[in-house]
Amino acid sequence: MAEPLIYELSRAGCPPFPLPDPDVPLSELPQGLTREDLPLPELPESEVVRHFVRLSQLNYAVDIGFYPLGSCTMKYNPKINEDAARLPGFAFTHPLQDPETVQGNLLLMYELQEWLKEIGGFAGVSLQPAAGAHGELTGILIIRAYHLHRGDKQRTKILIPDSAHGTNPATTSMAGFTMVKLPSDERGNVDLESLRAECDDTVAGLMLTNPNTLGLFEEHLQEVIDLVHGCGGLVYGDGANLNALLGVVRPGDLGFDVLHYNLHKTFSTPHGGGGPGSGPVGVCERLVDFLPGPIAAKVEEGDDEMPPLFGLIMPAKSIGRVKAFQGHFGVIVRAYTYIRMQGAAGLRAVADHAVLNANYLRVRLHDTYHVPYDRICMHEFVAEGRWDDAPQVRALDIAKRLMDYGFHPPTNYFPLIVHEALMIEPTETETKETLDAFARAMLKIAEEARRDPELLKSAPHETPFGRVDEVRAAKQLILRYQPESQG
Ligand SMILES: *Cc1c(COP(=O)(O)O)cnc(C)c1O
Repeated sequence: MAEPLIYELSRAGCPPFPLPDPDVPLSELPQGLTREDLPLPELPESEVVRHFVRLSQLNYAVDIGFYPLGSCTMKYNPKINEDAARLPGFAFTHPLQDPETVQGNLLLMYELQEWLKEIGGFAGVSLQPAAGAHGELTGILIIRAYHLHRGDKQRTKILIPDSAHGTNPATTSMAGFTMVKLPSDERGNVDLESLRAECDDTVAGLMLTNPNTLGLFEEHLQEVIDLVHGCGGLVYGDGANLNALLGVVRPGDLGFDVLHYNLHKTFSTPHGGGGPGSGPVGVCERLVDFLPGPIAAKVEEGDDEMPPLFGLIMPAKSIGRVKAFQGHFGVIVRAYTYIRMQGAAGLRAVADHAVLNANYLRVRLHDTYHVPYDRICMHEFVAEGRWDDAPQVRALDIAKRLMDYGFHPPTNYFPLIVHEALMIEPTETETKETLDAFARAMLKIAEEARRDPELLKSAPHETPFGRVDEVRAAKQLILRYQPESQG
């Protein structure tokens, strides 16, 4: 252990932190809720701050360096988003406050809904879901409610391409459907013959990621969507890759019926380490009434004297609530700020540069790393992390060695259809200098793989912690602090 735990730093008898006198009357706590002994760490404030800041410096972050974690869209997060989310009027409102006292918050939610409708080409948006995976579940429950409402009870299948994110099949089974896996063809598209064979009146829908997780735009998208619609199914769009499409094409116009937006990816929020996120869903006209609520709405039009009045409404056939209160409001404020700062032209430039950066890296690396579906990509591409003449080296070793060169590893072993996958997403926020430095490190590692494979197998060497024993970490989970003395 390089760093002690805060409990181990504790020194009994340190001067206590002075708490202010309570400004409410003291009351007795119910019996059984108190305990005699509560061994909290005792330390001066300065040492607590230093301890946690030191720990934070052991982490890698997008504010420290390049973070090409494919599918996650780890773009630079403009600090003005944080300023906005911290404004007292946003940070200190209570979710149960009377709507008349939080008109600004409701206006912000309403405008973000309107912008997401415009960006995605949809008729309605709900900001409720807490993250992408939650948006998926919400979208599939909407599809379920739609079919059941029409009495279409035999629709029990959801079709999912084999390149999909693991959350897609998980969502399907959580929503009570049977998943049917569709193979990809040799160009990385959904295999049309297999899709055609599955299309019948038991299909509830298709979950499609476009661009897909190979970073490729579905070449037969229109045919895929028409086939599913033709048999009465609906098309769900996994919108995690929307960064590539902003201002270029709208999923709703392409025929997607439902889509989730990952606000924390496409519209920037720090999200390494697991949250919080926000995964609003957009839907086409025929699904609007099924959206989860509450949704911010203009409940009274304004006039020359009075601004409009905003409130919260529940759609007519709503699947209900999927999240407490109004969703992850802090992330909603950040996405709102980001979109306002970019403007329409800025969002379009995001997509242009994300795609350009990915193609630049793909072409710099594809002679050295095998890229199995090597065609013009969108915002990311997938290379193989293995060579026939360096048989011991695996994608994991390349990923670990990259840390020694100061880069966060790309996503690896996903998508599953590429062996030893390295999924690289540079995002639009990186400079050519950074991309070049990363490419140089990748080329150097390819050389090392032949010359000194052990250097890769035992990497990382320069980080605060070395190679973690992944089997032990998975099998012997220690999830709770246990002081030495208590065993
Ligand atoms: C990130 C991601 C998801 C899940 O989104 P979360 O916000 O992490 O729940 C789903 N699909 C794809 C393709 C993703 O990249």
